[in-house]
Amino acid sequence: MPQQPRTVRTIAMVAHDNKKVELLRWADFNRTTLRGHRLYATGTTGSMLQYELGLPVTQYLSGPVGGDQQIGAKIAEGEIDMLVFFWDPLEAQPHDPDVKALLRLATVWNIPVATNVATADFLISSPLFHGDYAPRRPEFAPRNPTDLTPE
Ligand code: PGA
Repeated sequence: MPQQPRTVRTIAMVAHDNKKVELLRWADFNRTTLRGHRLYATGTTGSMLQYELGLPVTQYLSGPVGGDQQIGAKIAEGEIDMLVFFWDPLEAQPHDPDVKALLRLATVWNIPVATNVATADFLISSPLFHGDYAPRRPEFAPRNPTDLTPE
């Protein structure tokens, strides 16, 4: 079933440590646009964004201690319209399973994801972002508990 169109988007942002400056620069450049939307972020990313942008950012736990999973849960609950996730492809992360899980859930729920500045530029400048486009949310039936019962 299509979601109701929304023009105020909820944008979740996450950046690994080596990518935080890139995200801050991108967000600062797009501050006027971002001002009109709801911003969510993992802990450290969110506090830096809020300080630099002077915009309210709903902050979850830091990524390595559960923040990525909290954002993933919000995606599953249908609360996130776009994910800007500047993950670091050149450094191992202790919470790599959480990183993978967040990217996986964004794909499962058909959420637009930017993992680098160029893609984030494309997304935020898209007419679809500014219009009433509502991505289709897949419907998943609950699994039948009787299928799981041992014979
Ligand atoms: P942080 O988390 O915003 O708290 O640094 C980001 C991450 O590493 O997932």
